[in-house]
Formats: sequence, structure tokens, C-alpha cells
Amino acid sequence: MPTSSIVELTEALRCLPGVGPKSAQRMAYHLLQHDREGAQRLEKALGRALCVVHRCRRCNTWTELELCECCASPHRDSSLLCVVETPVDLNMMEQTHAYNGLYYVLMGRISPLDGLGARQLGLEALLSRALDGVVKEVVLATNFTNEGEATAHYLSEMLKAHAISVTRIARGVPVGGELEFVDSGTLAQALRERRRLVEI
Ligand code: ZN
Repeated sequence: MPTSSIVELTEALRCLPGVGPKSAQRMAYHLLQHDREGAQRLEKALGRALCVVHRCRRCNTWTELELCECCASPHRDSSLLCVVETPVDLNMMEQTHAYNGLYYVLMGRISPLDGLGARQLGLEALLSRALDGVVKEVVLATNFTNEGEATAHYLSEMLKAHAISVTRIARGVPVGGELEFVDSGTLAQALRERRRLVEI
């Protein structure tokens, strides 16, 4: 029988996405047996990140500063606001080098099955961000999954009432596709060929 510390470590590792009991146990033994230095680095990095990383006041992504690098840059086009689901998606968009506007990170998507509605997503913050008087176009770059599409639809309806142009990135991204797994060339193309959802 594993000792209680090993059980505790294994249970703790299960908080990682996609890690079941068996892989958690394998990871725990791996760290203890083969990579104690790595385990210490992990402990330190995790502790530090939890301590200093928080949401960007403007775009909602993770940052150590008050404003993330992108929001703080004077070289970005602040009339463009791209809405993505996750910080990983934001990084994907940045890797395309095809977009020079700003972002808003939802940190999720509308997913009624998971009990995630518009209210849980805190869309008021996005709305006030989009209506700051500088933003002229909101580019919806949520995933092409059912939830991502539903979220894009909801957002375009929400923004329709306000005189703001809304576009959706084109379907170079496959149906059911998540931005995270699309190559940056395809994503750049989808961004260039975005279509207008709301005319003003
Ligand atoms: Zn930011």
C-alpha cells in the first residue's frame, strides 16, 4: 500500500486535465524516483505563479502586471477587439502574426450542459470593453465547436443592439475544430477572411 503522502500527491496530480488515477500514480512515482529536481522546480514555479499571476485588467488574460504586454503596447490597433475562449487561443492568434488588434479572453464558453451561461462568463465586462468608444470592430474567434458557435451567436446578438461591427473568423478552421490545434497559417487565413455578422 502506498503511504499517505504518495496517496496525497497522486490525488493532487489528478487536478490536471486528462489525468486519471493511473497516470497520476505514474507521475507521482516518476517524480519521486527519477526527477526529484524537476519536482522541486515544479513546486517552486507553481507556488510563484499562483502568487504573482492574475487577470489583466483590460483583456482578462493572465499576467504578472496590471496590464498584459499586448494591452500595454502602444503599437496595437485598439479599434479591433478579438474575442477568444482561452489564453492558449490568444497565443495561437499571436503566432499567426496576422492580427494587430487587442483581445478579450472569455476564459470559457457558453455551455448549458456544464451549467455555463452568459452570466457565469461575466459578459458585462466584455460589453463595457467593446463599448469603450475606441473599439470599431469585434472579431469573434471562438472555437468552431457547438459551444464556440453558440457563444459567437450569443455575442453577436448581444453586440447587435450597439452600433458596433461584429465579424467571425472564416472556416479555414474545420467544423468542430479548436483553435489550439489549428496551424497558424490556417488560422491567419481564417482571420483574413473573417465575415461580417453585424453591419453598422
Ligand atoms: Zn491584457
